[in-house]
Amino acid sequence: MIDYGFQGKVALVTGGGSGIGRATALAFARSGASVTVADVDDKSGGETVELIAAHGGRAFYSHCDVSDGAQVRAMIRQTIDRFGRLDAAFNNAGVNDISADEYRDEVWARALSINLTGVMLCMREEAEVMLKQGGGAIVNTASINGLVGNPGQPAYSASKHGVVGLTRHGALRWAQAGIRVNAVCPGVIQTPMTDPLVADPQMKQLIDSMTPMGRMGSADEVAQAVLWLSSDAASFVTGHPLVIDGGATAV
Ligand code: NAD
Repeated sequence: MIDYGFQGKVALVTGGGSGIGRATALAFARSGASVTVADVDDKSGGETVELIAAHGGRAFYSHCDVSDGAQVRAMIRQTIDRFGRLDAAFNNAGVNDISADEYRDEVWARALSINLTGVMLCMREEAEVMLKQGGGAIVNTASINGLVGNPGQPAYSASKHGVVGLTRHGALRWAQAGIRVNAVCPGVIQTPMTDPLVADPQMKQLIDSMTPMGRMGSADEVAQAVLWLSSDAASFVTGHPLVIDGGATAV
């Protein structure tokens, strides 16, 4: 693993209790950062903190529904109270109820409020702290569904296209203030979100066959991209939606 040099720095990860968020929280901690793990699932968020502590890292759990502005503000305040600053923020919490009819009002509203409004609320509060500090790096989780069309999931697709737009907005707005804003656009990644899909061997085979590299990605492979984008190694990279999809959108 490459050491991206987060010693003495502070990172926060939303949706840090599971999948891509957990892998990234662990990677930040391994690289030396103190980490705020934010989630709505207190059990899994607490487990991520325990995993970090078991490896000698420093982390704390904050219960935070990213679609609630007051909870987001409280989570950021707790981070500053606990660790004193915020260098890297990974706005990753998201939902994808693959079997739901996303044209139903409540399904549409839930996807947009968590996947898109949640990213905006976090980014807004993080930027306020980073502006006072004189800089920082923000990475938002979009998806390849934020770059190409998806006939079955209007809400998920619209929310992730929105995340890419919001990322470009943030990059331009804060470019002169030392805050870089980028996005990751994963293809199909093996996490609890996709476990129900791949439980069916035929579906797993279909998913693998749709990816030129012939397999799903791992949460660690996304985490490495997030650390790079958040690090000084990417100091001239901003407004970029980085595709991590085994070639799925190259065809
Ligand atoms: P996951 O279900 O394993 O993890 C998502 C985490 O977000 C969970 O811990 C969940 O409790 C948390 N969460 C849900 N709603 C929340 C809320 N309102 N506030 C705070 N936390 C909340 O899923 P994952 O696969 O790790 O997905 C992480 C992100 O990556 C999501 O934004 C997802 O859309 C995106 N993504 C995933 C894939 C994939 O194939 N797994 C592909 C592209 C993009």
